[in-house]
Amino acid sequence: MQNFLKTSLVVMLFALLSVSAVQAEKDAHKDDIVQGNIICLFPDVDSGSVTPVIATSPCDGKPSHAHVIVDTRGEVGQVYAVEGTDEAITRLEKTSSRKGVNVQGKVTGSQKAWVITVD
Ligand SMILES: [Zn+2]
Repeated sequence: MQNFLKTSLVVMLFALLSVSAVQAEKDAHKDDIVQGNIICLFPDVDSGSVTPVIATSPCDGKPSHAHVIVDTRGEVGQVYAVEGTDEAITRLEKTSSRKGVNVQGKVTGSQKAWVITVD
């Protein structure tokens, strides 16, 4: 009887371990690709709005601003807010090709609010 209990515990432990291995793999999924145009959103405090620009040269020298990507593959034009570490964003800002580019990262969100985390 004790042996049976021991075996059951070992089996349960293995089952738990494989579940967490699958979960870790899911969390590490960072290779989503969005294809489209990278848009700089230059803020204008006076009007309380932004000016969207498809840059043709690096924008890392401009005042701090946010970016979105408009996916040009579908007919909907899904918009992704871009987030990431300072290093990752600077890497993106140093590029000068912003039209029809592939951006790799981790896509999260739902329905009408998508985010891509670049790395
Ligand atoms: Zn920019």
